[in-house]
Formats: sequence, C-alpha cells, structure tokens
Amino acid sequence: MSWFLGLIVLVSGLEVAGAGGASRMSGVLLLIGGLVVTLYSWKRYRLLLEIAERLGEQATCPGCNTYGKFKVESSGPAPLPDGGDPTLENHGGGFWLRAHCRKCGDEWMLK
Ligand SMILES: [Zn+2]
Repeated sequence: MSWFLGLIVLVSGLEVAGAGGASRMSGVLLLIGGLVVTLYSWKRYRLLLEIAERLGEQATCPGCNTYGKFKVESSGPAPLPDGGDPTLENHGGGFWLRAHCRKCGDEWMLK
C-alpha cells in the first residue's frame, strides 16, 4: 500500500507548506514528492485490482463448476509484487496461475 504512504507525505507536505516562511520550499517539495508517489502507486494499485478481478472471474473450476476451491500449483512470469516492480507494468499485468481444483482435481489456467 505505498499509495497510502504517498498520501501521508502529501498531507504532511500541505501542512509544512501552510506554515509559510523558510519551511515553505521544503513543504512544496514534500507535496510534489507525495503527489508523484501517490499517482505512481495508485496506478499500480489499480493494475493489481484489475488483475485480481480478472483472476476472480476465472476462479471457477471447468470440471465441477466449484468457485474458488483451488490450490495454486505454479505462477508466472513473475510472482505478485510487493515492492517496486516496473516488470508488472511492462508485462501489462501479464500474469498467470495454474490452479488445481481441491474438489475434482482438475487443472486449469488463470490469466
Ligand atoms: Zn473441480
């Protein structure tokens, strides 16, 4: 949730800038930094949401129509990121999972 951190920096930037005087410049810098972090991570956050939504739509087993009862066997090309990950954007969210149904043992791909 680095977009949240960006938001905090953004708000503290507003506070410092509001104080005026010599701290105004550093407040403005904080503000800009917070804005950049927020926008960048928000974009990534939205991308993750889109991937999660897309995967969720495919979480039904083709063998027995059970929803969400599967084990992830493998995934690629990259594991879900929790740090800086230009790779995710570069792949356009091209991320896949191989699911194994807990009920009937069927296997299918989520992508
Ligand atoms: Zn099944």
